[in-house]
Amino acid sequence: MVRVRERLRAVFGEPRMRPHGHPLAELVLTVLSQSTNDRNRDVAYLRLRERLPSWEAVRDAPVAEVEEAIRPGGISKVKSQRIQAILRAISADPRDPAHELSLDWMADAALDESRDYLIRLPGVGRKTAACVLLFSYGLHEVPVDTHVSRVGTRLHLLRPGAGFAELHDQMLALTPPGQELELHVNMLRHGRRTCHARAPACDECALARMCPSRGLFAAAQARPRARSAQPRGSTAKAMTA
Ligand code: SF4
Repeated sequence: MVRVRERLRAVFGEPRMRPHGHPLAELVLTVLSQSTNDRNRDVAYLRLRERLPSWEAVRDAPVAEVEEAIRPGGISKVKSQRIQAILRAISADPRDPAHELSLDWMADAALDESRDYLIRLPGVGRKTAACVLLFSYGLHEVPVDTHVSRVGTRLHLLRPGAGFAELHDQMLALTPPGQELELHVNMLRHGRRTCHARAPACDECALARMCPSRGLFAAAQARPRARSAQPRGSTAKAMTA
């Protein structure tokens, strides 16, 4: 993992993001990020905060109003219902003495307690919980999204076919404290920019020398070319027959 971090840092640099201390905002932002890009997520989030400035207002608004506010983020019908369900669940199980609709108590809570609370909220899984805890407080969590999972699996760091909980546990066990954010961000960037799902650019990859999957993709990419040569050969043979 040390070599992976060093090589990715040489390509992408070291992320400079600092924990922002706003877990509820991070939770809503993470719900909005599902199945869309960062720009549309941010537009949806800003529209929501402009139209409904408090979390109580978001919780209590007609769902159609929330849906309309977050429409630029896609699948707004599902996301609006999920956001309101989460806010109602937090209100029903308040932990912050000063404010029922708040996750600020997590700043002083044990990591396990915060994680367990989050993954019991409606529609919240390990990845979303990890985003909240890492980006809000810099805690020892590493969100394993589709890019991190793909890169980690191809490098044989993560077990192919593992479920989300196992992937997160494996990633946590591999990640030295203090390197969570950097590994998450740079593995995600690497997955987006180089280690693509269908056609990874292995020839340009900074991790190629340590990657056990490199040859597999070269072979897979060669096979269609070999197959596609057959019809041309057959056609040529038929033409000369
Ligand atoms: S060598 Fe290819 S498969 Fe391996 S990490 Fe790089 S791009 Fe991904």
